[in-house]
Order: sequence, then structure tokens, then C-alpha cells
Amino acid sequence: MSKLVCRCGYIMAVHTMEEDFLYDLIPQKNMMEIVGAWERIRDNEYPDDLTELYDKDAHEIYICPSCGRILVASNKNPNTFDSYIKED
Ligand SMILES: [Zn+2]
Repeated sequence: MSKLVCRCGYIMAVHTMEEDFLYDLIPQKNMMEIVGAWERIRDNEYPDDLTELYDKDAHEIYICPSCGRILVASNKNPNTFDSYIKED
């Protein structure tokens, strides 16, 4: 289990990878590449090609359910997160 603590103090604990606060940020070009390769991908018994294309350049995102901050896995170190909050 992993967890991430928001700057507001809310703890986002990951148990199933299906938590509502978890997102992925995927470049549109990667999604278009997946769509373009879909015929080949869907015939694969294992989804290796899909996960490889999907994970390429993907960023893990947490959206805090308490304060709405967006925490984005850092480009420099994916084990750290950059925090963003809505401006008025
Ligand atoms: Zn928060």
C-alpha cells in the first residue's frame, strides 16, 4: 500500500489502484498512438503493448478529495510530487 500526504494534511492511501483520487496524465499523442495501434494491441494475449504505450511519458496524479489540490509526479523524480492549487 502506498500513501501520499497532501499539504492540507489529508492522507490518500492507495489500496486497490481504483481509488477516486487517482488519475493518470497521458500525452494526447500517446493516446493517438494507442488508437492507431489498437488493431494490433487487441489481438495480443497479454496487454504488454498497451501498457508500454500507455505508461510512456505518463504521470501519476492525485487529486486531493479534501482541498482539491492536484499532485503530479515530478519530471525530475517520479517518487516526488509537485503540488498545484486552483487560483481564484
Ligand atoms: Zn489536500
